[in-house]
Amino acid sequence: MTAPDRYAVIGNPVAHSQSPFIHAEFARQTGHAVAYGRVHCEVDAFEATVRAFAAGGGRGCNVTVPFKFEAPRLAARVTARAALAEAANILRFDADGWTADNSDGIGLVRDIERNAAQPIAGRRVLLVGAGGAGAGVLGPLIEAGAGEVVVVNRTAARAAALVERHRELAGALGVVLAAAPIDDPGAGHDIVINASASSLQGAPSPVPASVLGREALAVDLMYGPAAAPFLAWAGTAGARARDGLGMLVEQAAEAFHFWRGVRPETAPVLQALRARVAAA
Ligand code: NAP
Repeated sequence: MTAPDRYAVIGNPVAHSQSPFIHAEFARQTGHAVAYGRVHCEVDAFEATVRAFAAGGGRGCNVTVPFKFEAPRLAARVTARAALAEAANILRFDADGWTADNSDGIGLVRDIERNAAQPIAGRRVLLVGAGGAGAGVLGPLIEAGAGEVVVVNRTAARAAALVERHRELAGALGVVLAAAPIDDPGAGHDIVINASASSLQGAPSPVPASVLGREALAVDLMYGPAAAPFLAWAGTAGARARDGLGMLVEQAAEAFHFWRGVRPETAPVLQALRARVAAA
């Protein structure tokens, strides 16, 4: 029997990651011999850790907090969506040089449009956060045809820089794009996306409930118990609250396709993952 191809998620923290479960389900579903683990990485040791994993036979990895901005610098090739984000959540260790990609945005868009059955086209979107996740999702939200996207971030200059980088794309697609102060994020948005690490840190919603329009969709990219306060906050304000599990599965399916050339079915895996997280 041949040994399975090895992949991993590399980050800090990483112990909570559900990616090994998701990729085990994808491997079973597609019949691919894949072994997917977690690699905890010290904050100043990203490059050495990834190179050691590749040297040990790894075929590729996912990259999570806080290394997404470092990942493209290790690659010989960077896909267009990762280049726009200046952040990557996927590395593939090709024999002729590594390739960096970013599937966070397409994962979020697919979760909102397909799994939550909510259109993005024409709607007013508030994006909270301009870290690795915020950077990855802005381009695909614009490409999905949002009417308007407002970006706010605790450090305002990062939101402004992210918006500047996407101004040409937004202009070409007729999307109104602006950065705003986090304490003045506007009111009545149709879709509010918390792409900040506030829930991960146990902090409350970084924006007030007035950001939520009537029957707004409020998505926290976090999931599990850490997302519960944000989801409760949104529900109390009358919004439809959604955690980050759907995005997690969708971005993982895109990564699996990037590495293996096969796109797994996501619906049964999301269902199994929800049951697993609820039982934990
Ligand atoms: P990151 O690169 O470390 O960026 C963190 C972001 O959160 C920055 O914008 C930071 O603002 C902001 N922030 C941190 N603490 C905050 C607080 N207490 N209040 C307000 N803003 C705060 O992390 P990331 O990669 O963007 O990840 C962000 C979150 O998304 C994490 O919880 C991660 O688990 C989640 N995520 C989920 C998925 C999924 O598939 N569901 C995918 C990607 C990420 P400053 O710029 O001011 O530091």
